[in-house]
Amino acid sequence: MRRGLLIILSSPSGAGKSTLAQRLRDWDADIEFSVSATTRAARPGELDGREYHFVDETAFKSQVTKGGMLEHAHVFGNFYGSPSGPVQDAINAGRDVLFDIDWQGAQQITNSALSAHTLSIFLLPPSIRELRNRLEKRAQDDAATIARRMDKSWDEISHWGSYDYVLVNDDLDTTEAHLKTIVTATRLRRSQQPGLTEHVRHLQSEFERLS
Ligand code: ADP
Ligand code: 5GP
Repeated sequence: MRRGLLIILSSPSGAGKSTLAQRLRDWDADIEFSVSATTRAARPGELDGREYHFVDETAFKSQVTKGGMLEHAHVFGNFYGSPSGPVQDAINAGRDVLFDIDWQGAQQITNSALSAHTLSIFLLPPSIRELRNRLEKRAQDDAATIARRMDKSWDEISHWGSYDYVLVNDDLDTTEAHLKTIVTATRLRRSQQPGLTEHVRHLQSEFERLS
């Protein structure tokens, strides 16, 4: 059995995280999405428990105090955090978990006890103009929210250098293919294959029997 990976996707808002996260899960339904808790209001079409667990600040802070968050951060004026229970269950069962989180959360997970099983990927937009186009085209936010997200985009982009992989999300199909290649290769990392030691032991006894 292999060990589950923690796959972290970060980018400035609008660069394509949700779109690529969905494509990765369509490719492999065994990849679990880490449903974050947030204090922000649900957008039209978002379902409690699917995109996010929508909670109030008291409930959020209580979960943090109880040690129930793998990481948490304040983003765009709201609290966001990744509940740790489902993540531990999944990786112990050999399933990968996908996180759509910002650089603060990525840093906390990368510096945690789970760092050996973490794969972090940062998505860059092809240009800032295209980033704005995508936010506008998505039509989920009002003009003020889009302006706030654009203001914060440079802050997020400035952390690109601390990720394992960085992809420029220009052509969506190409980025998707690169993402799948990265995940496939990382699953084959020695640290992700706990059964290798046993396999080599078998090879050794076979070798000794035959020689
Ligand atoms: P994020 O989750 O990073 O905020 P989304 O995945 O919601 O970003 O993408 C923002 C918008 O850009 C969506 O309308 C999406 O369909 C579009 N989009 C994503 N990737 C590309 C791409 N490579 N080329 C063109 N449009 C894209
Ligand atoms: P949105 O409000 O657009 O869904 O998300 C805003 C930002 O918060 C995005 O950059 C997203 O990746 C980040 N985010 C979502 N969930 C979490 C989380 O659990 N932890 C952290 N640190 N960031 C998150």
